[in-house]
Amino acid sequence: MVKPVVFKFGGTSLQTADRIRKAVDIMAGSHAPLVVVTSAVGGVTNQLASLIADPSLADGKGEELRRLHLQIARDLGLERADLADYEAHIATTLADLDQAGAILDDRGRERVLSIGERLSTYLVARVLSARGIRSEYIDSRTLVRTDSVWGEARVDLDTTRTLVDQGLLPIVARGVVPIVTGFLGRNAKGDTTTIGRNGSDLSATVLGACLDAGEVWIWTDVSGIYTADPRYYQGGRLLEEISFREAAEAAYFGASVIHPHTLWPLLETNVAVRIKNTFQPEDPGTLICAHPKKRGNILITTSIEGVSVITVGGYGMLGIQGVAARIFSVVQTVGTSVLMISQSSSEHNISMVVRDAEVDKTVKSLHASLSEWMMSAHRIDHIRVVPDVAIITVVGEDMKGRSGIAGKFFTALGRSAINIIAIAQGSSEYSISAVIAAHETRRAIEGIHRELDEENDK
Ligand code: ADP
Ligand code: ASP
Ligand code: MG
Repeated sequence: MVKPVVFKFGGTSLQTADRIRKAVDIMAGSHAPLVVVTSAVGGVTNQLASLIADPSLADGKGEELRRLHLQIARDLGLERADLADYEAHIATTLADLDQAGAILDDRGRERVLSIGERLSTYLVARVLSARGIRSEYIDSRTLVRTDSVWGEARVDLDTTRTLVDQGLLPIVARGVVPIVTGFLGRNAKGDTTTIGRNGSDLSATVLGACLDAGEVWIWTDVSGIYTADPRYYQGGRLLEEISFREAAEAAYFGASVIHPHTLWPLLETNVAVRIKNTFQPEDPGTLICAHPKKRGNILITTSIEGVSVITVGGYGMLGIQGVAARIFSVVQTVGTSVLMISQSSSEHNISMVVRDAEVDKTVKSLHASLSEWMMSAHRIDHIRVVPDVAIITVVGEDMKGRSGIAGKFFTALGRSAINIIAIAQGSSEYSISAVIAAHETRRAIEGIHRELDEENDK
């Protein structure tokens, strides 16, 4: 059998009937056997997440989602029988929302979050069938086995491979196109799990690895990976090829075009990923692979916002044994994920960048855990928070062998009169990061780009 190609369509490619039609055209035009992974209709998972955060919003939400999806189905021209069938699917799916108390425990919350993909994917399968292409709706809970970390479940690749062999390969072998929900899995007990916001990219590579696919194509609203997020800077270059490591590092530091975990299932395979534009399908896109042939064009400037710096410090801190261990064990205990660490021995402090939502619980626990040292004079005398910051990072695998990149990075920030709050170089030497005030993000990206772009020609 010719190796299948996995196509993944993100929420931005499924937001309206018109966009879904474009996505379906792309599926219909493929010559390779296909497996398609779809996200929820753009914005729907956000709505579901907000009613989990505030259950008082749940009233009327089911009806709103029913109407939205039915309207898209009508705009897509589904015939009456298909519409009735879809309506029945919507009703069963939304029952998860209506169950009293469903959103009050972890299992119920995961089921609620899963609704978006179950609604969109079924519709895409129906539309493709209506185009005369045999397709089947597949709920990925039957394929993707995960652990039980609610909202961020980790995929068990071995078990998933067995489930894919049994449940997905035979469908592809029959010449039918499976349309599979992204984002969802199931733990060993059979509970619904979700694999992290924006996780459908990962769903696609998990299936790509398990199927030993030809390639995984991620269809989105940009023509590939640029040297800067096009929302911040329009002058970035489109990258033809980029390595797994560069793409993973860029994604981690904010290049949200792919989820940061997207590439791990493929690291030990020969399966490459291509980023493609649903709205300009003829563009070649960006190829992400283990060993790109084409080098150059490798410096990507990324940013993460919605973060704060927490600094623990004091003149006596260097003399305290085990202080760093204590600080990071607190962080781990409260479940905070630290995006960046920077230690300055001259000022005797340790700074870490964390997401805004995690600041309060972290600071409270640090106070409790470090109190004995805070009370003794000159040991630890402050735990400070600087809110509204951003991490700006330059990523590139070749940076290692090239001098002067760090200098140009800091010169660019200096020339733009941007104050640096903290700095860190990744141990991989694939990246350098600086923390700056969030309102200066755009200016920083422009400045760094101007200073460093010529490096991309070397
Ligand atoms: P989807 O709904 O297809 O998953 P996303 O919004 O998750 O789409 O990802 C696409 C977006 O990623 C683009 O619209 C773009 O703004 C953003 N993005 C961030 N950094 C980059 C980058 N370096 N190159 C391209 N796009 C980027
Ligand atoms: N629909 C999910 C989300 O918005 C997953 C995805 O789109 O990748 O997070
Ligand atoms: Mg995405």
